[in-house]
Amino acid sequence: MIAEAKAYKGSAVQVVPVSSSFRPPKHVVILGAGPAGLGAAYELARHQTPCTLVDKNKRVGGLARTLEFKGFRFDIGPHRFFTKEERVNQLWREVLGSEFVPVQRLTRIYYGQRFFHYPLKPLDALVGLGIARSIMAFGSYLYARMAYRRREARSFEEWITFHFGWQLYDAFFKTYTEKVWGIPCSKIAAQWAAQRIRGLNLWRAAKSAFLGNRDQVRTLTDQFHYPRLGAGMLYEKMADRVRSAGSHVFLERTVEEIHVSGNRVTGIRCADGQSLEVEPDGYLLSSIPITEFVTKLSVRPPPEVLAAAQRLKYRDHITVNLTYFGPRPFPDNWIYVHSEKVRTARITNYANFTRDMTPDADAHGLTVEYFCFRDDDLWKMRDDLLIQLAVDELKSIGVIRAENVRDGFVVREKDAYPAYYVGYESHLETVRNYVGSLVNVQMIGRGGLFKYGNQDHAVLTGILAARNLVGEEHDLWFVHEESEYLEEKNRDSR
Ligand SMILES: Cc1cc2nc3c(=O)[nH]c(=O)nc-3n(C[C@H](O)[C@H](O)[C@H](O)COP(=O)(O)OP(=O)(O)OC[C@H]3O[C@@H](n4cnc5c(N)ncnc54)[C@H](O)[C@@H]3O)c2cc1C
Repeated sequence: MIAEAKAYKGSAVQVVPVSSSFRPPKHVVILGAGPAGLGAAYELARHQTPCTLVDKNKRVGGLARTLEFKGFRFDIGPHRFFTKEERVNQLWREVLGSEFVPVQRLTRIYYGQRFFHYPLKPLDALVGLGIARSIMAFGSYLYARMAYRRREARSFEEWITFHFGWQLYDAFFKTYTEKVWGIPCSKIAAQWAAQRIRGLNLWRAAKSAFLGNRDQVRTLTDQFHYPRLGAGMLYEKMADRVRSAGSHVFLERTVEEIHVSGNRVTGIRCADGQSLEVEPDGYLLSSIPITEFVTKLSVRPPPEVLAAAQRLKYRDHITVNLTYFGPRPFPDNWIYVHSEKVRTARITNYANFTRDMTPDADAHGLTVEYFCFRDDDLWKMRDDLLIQLAVDELKSIGVIRAENVRDGFVVREKDAYPAYYVGYESHLETVRNYVGSLVNVQMIGRGGLFKYGNQDHAVLTGILAARNLVGEEHDLWFVHEESEYLEEKNRDSR
């Protein structure tokens, strides 16, 4: 067993009585201390079952961790907290208490050198696009409804065109989506749009904007909750609590090999040579990307499984984080950048989240995001050149004065977005079936389940995996479908 570096103190996890008819497993090993891994560890602690988490990063929180730099705090891209899952909401509130603070939301789209409110407001969009283009937009919507009526949309492009018309697709969906996914929208599975913008079309959006919508909870789009010191604050606190309950969190340990014997995982080996046993009646929960998981198994999976894993793609992600001093560069929490003239897809100002994210009142932590693959020029670009690119692009959008940027750093995140390319489902099924044959393993979280989900989905899959270990039965692969999810209520896709 590897030794843990530090002992931590934290508030207690509220324990639930364990049913006498079920004996929880002796020990659980969890790969990844992000939202899913910590969600599982937290729930296990509630059932008095200690576990061991292993993560390659220096800090807990995975993609939702917060980094500190010269008195500034930056998430890995902006993280809004929103959930319709009461179990997750309760957990967030239990852990953060009064440090879970309301934040006024302002988010806009930058397109054609103009800013449009997001979620779209019809009047604002009408003025921004101009009367002629707005009429064309409505006409193209009517045309699409007639033309595609009998056909099921296969691609993102078809889905959006059917629900919004070609003109609006072109203005408000195409460029941003293609920046994020790196391929034409015609090659992105329709399922992604259906999952993210479920229930919305131009007609309903216009109706709700002009006539009001009784179902919609307005405050959800105008306001969101956020941990006072950044998204990662939640996960740091969860980690403290699970440590206090007897669990171990090993950081800066990259899992290199997952030992398999028969149909069980028996242990892991980390890059530094340290290894950890999974006891004969123990379990492994894994939130590392499923593609990485299968390639790290000590017993090589059949070639068709490895081939399917290779065909599953994740999009990589870069944040260029800048410290900025001066008047507020923009009032938004973040801005989606649809313009084709710049390569960034989104810019964020953390000073507009909470004042505690920055050291002074005139200090602004700005993040400029780029989506790419790891063999792209952007991924390989030197940090100083990426910082220069980010500054130039912010300047060209017209939101900053370059001389006010004082410092910066770059974070590269591999496998940040599971990509729903047309046809991915069959590859996923092949890999999923293989992983399912390992009887003491459960995949959890965004990368583990290859599900484009938010923090709440990741935490929930962790909680449910833990509950599976204490006698409940949940199919984690279908958590999204089962739970009522945010877009139904909020109608907000990003
Ligand atoms: C740019 C961006 C913006 C986002 N915005 C929002 C938002 O506004 N709201 C929201 O709710 N969600 C948002 N999300 C999604 C949210 O970050 C994820 O849903 C969540 O972090 C997934 O949690 P997870 O635990 O499943 O995976 P991860 O957070 O990816 O955690 C997996 C962990 O596994 C570790 N790991 C991987 N491989 C190994 C290995 N070989 N050995 C050891 N450890 C390993 C990683 O270091 C990581 O800590 C955003 C994500 C991104 C990238």
